[in-house]
Amino acid sequence: EIIGQSTRMLYGPVTDADTVARMHDAMKAQQQIRVELQCYNKVGEAIWLDINVVPLRDDSGQVTHFASIKRDLTAAKQLQEELSTLASTDALTGIFNRRKLFEQAAIEFARAYRYHRELAVVMLDVDHFKRVNDEHGHFAGDQVLAALGRHARALLRGSDMIGRWGGEEFMIVMPETPLDGAAVFAERLREELAALSVVAGDETLHFTVSAGVTARGDGDQDITHVLQRADVALYAAKNAGRNCVHVLAAPDSCAA
Ligand code: GH3
Ligand code: MG
Ligand code: MG
Repeated sequence: EIIGQSTRMLYGPVTDADTVARMHDAMKAQQQIRVELQCYNKVGEAIWLDINVVPLRDDSGQVTHFASIKRDLTAAKQLQEELSTLASTDALTGIFNRRKLFEQAAIEFARAYRYHRELAVVMLDVDHFKRVNDEHGHFAGDQVLAALGRHARALLRGSDMIGRWGGEEFMIVMPETPLDGAAVFAERLREELAALSVVAGDETLHFTVSAGVTARGDGDQDITHVLQRADVALYAAKNAGRNCVHVLAAPDSCAA
């Protein structure tokens, strides 16, 4: 079926035109090239190919042919993607795990620092979560955490990031968001979570959270400074009686 056909028959909308152009340039220059390229199989499914193109020379050194060896990488690519999702996801809640959120937060901090942009952080902790476990069991506690993660994720913008920071602690990173904007969001989230009914088995549970809110200031050298201040703010919210939001501006900001 393929004899006499151009390899272009493998290409389609997801095929990267730049990679194809690089391949053609290498062939024009009579050089060997190896690329990974998304192509299509016979039934029209997108597949990943490892393509190795090698110029073949005759006795006088003239290039007379090219040999192109193609290997299907689709399964390996899928596995790679699944592994990277697993490595960055908290299994219970489906949101980022601590490592991934910290990594993303550091990237956002660097961007905000460089371009003098705003960046807010909200840290959440479930109130008296030990009691939830003690009174309703660990499974019910897990349902509360899953519901919290789901609900907060749904309430956030796509550019905001949320991760499970610890047992019943969550961290939210909000790029391009000033302190007061994050405070309004945290208050709304707190109210909505307090009104949420979580069904676990034949029980219906309610819970509250405390939240600490802060934003990047010019004195913050890296993201850990901001995260530490969010933690201090959260501690203040706990001390203020729980089920509340405490806002702590950076010491050098005009909001302070
Ligand atoms: P506070 O209002 O001061 O935050 O009180 P608290 O009881 O929530 O505080 P503490 O941090 O001491 O307790 C957290 C509890 O969360 C202890 C631990 O058993 C529970 N926990 C941590 N991870 C999980 C989890 O994955 N599932 C469940 N069900 N419980 C968890
Ligand atoms: Mg805690
Ligand atoms: Mg707690």
